[in-house]
Amino acid sequence: MNLLIYGPPGSGKGTQAELLTKAFDIPHISTGDILRGEVAAHTPLGQKAGPIMAAGNYVPDEIMIGIIRNRLQQADCQKGFLMDGFPRTIPQAEALDALMVELGRRFDRVLYMKVSTPELVKRLAGRMTCPIDQKTYPPGTKKCPLDGATLVQRDDDKPEAMHKRIEVYHEKTLPLLDYYKRQELVSKIDGMGTMQEVHKRILAALGQDARVRER
Ligand code: AMP
Repeated sequence: MNLLIYGPPGSGKGTQAELLTKAFDIPHISTGDILRGEVAAHTPLGQKAGPIMAAGNYVPDEIMIGIIRNRLQQADCQKGFLMDGFPRTIPQAEALDALMVELGRRFDRVLYMKVSTPELVKRLAGRMTCPIDQKTYPPGTKKCPLDGATLVQRDDDKPEAMHKRIEVYHEKTLPLLDYYKRQELVSKIDGMGTMQEVHKRILAALGQDARVRER
């Protein structure tokens, strides 16, 4: 299964991606996670991307396309994958289409997570992140329940960058909806409700039985 999960920052893409990769046993390709890894390791790419990300802007298309080209050719992607956070611009989507043709692959579905802007702001403001596994927790949570690390606020969840990310999303990423609608790939998912409610909606959109997938 080759899936793409798409939606504004704070729409629950990362959380749902995690449930889906478990359900389908496919790798989760998150360009945000890849970039945060590069920043943490102080690589040349990380040094370039870090300030761009902290300001809530997009890393240049050619860098992102190079990252995805490498990642998709790794062995674990042969059985399928779930892409999260890429493409974010029309040139990225066009480059990805060309790459998929080159690799003889096609997307089965594009899952569009729909959440209202006031709800996004509510979710992102004060969201706390584990510096080790990048999992996010509600405002006020101090320690990661999984590894005990002290949670931090991501630079790009701070108010100014957060508003910038939502604005850049509307300007550059929302147009992808029409792009993929033209390819008849889009399933619109109501992203409101609990994690499990949203997960069941996604499985239903994929024509999967939640009970089987939860075993
Ligand atoms: P995310 O975790 O997906 O919200 O990504 C965090 C940040 O990484 C974004 O706000 C961008 O600065 C950068 N980023 C991730 N994916 C992309 C992409 N496909 N194109 C450009 N910038 C990206």
